[in-house]
Amino acid sequence: MHSLRYASPVSSGVLLPTAKIKFMKKPTNRRVFMMQTLSVAGVATFASTAAQAAMVDEKDPQAVGLGYKADATKVDKAKQPKYAAGQLCSNCSLYQGKATDAAGGCPLFAGKQVAGKGWCSAYNKKA
Ligand code: SF4
Repeated sequence: MHSLRYASPVSSGVLLPTAKIKFMKKPTNRRVFMMQTLSVAGVATFASTAAQAAMVDEKDPQAVGLGYKADATKVDKAKQPKYAAGQLCSNCSLYQGKATDAAGGCPLFAGKQVAGKGWCSAYNKKA
């Protein structure tokens, strides 16, 4: 523990990043621009991936209230008499993905995605 307090970058033979920077040339505007662009692109990619990954959880209170199931074949027909085979999120008028997408948005679950093969009691056949 005490050795950490007295350790210095010079005595350990390790240069701290700030020490290294002193010996480097000043970054050019182009280099700075590239670093900033890559950083922004990385954050945007991460955010996009995270948004796509957010699926509605069947246990979410909103999902429970609407009887949402990620697999329409698992809908309890006794509790959901409105359900009919073939009704899927992917052919619902509220589904925001393409009919062939595995998942897509739904205004009833803002910021999340529903499964294309899912279903809920607000199902409305796409015209
Ligand atoms: S409203 Fe339509 S798209 Fe949204 S969860 Fe219900 S069945 Fe799926």
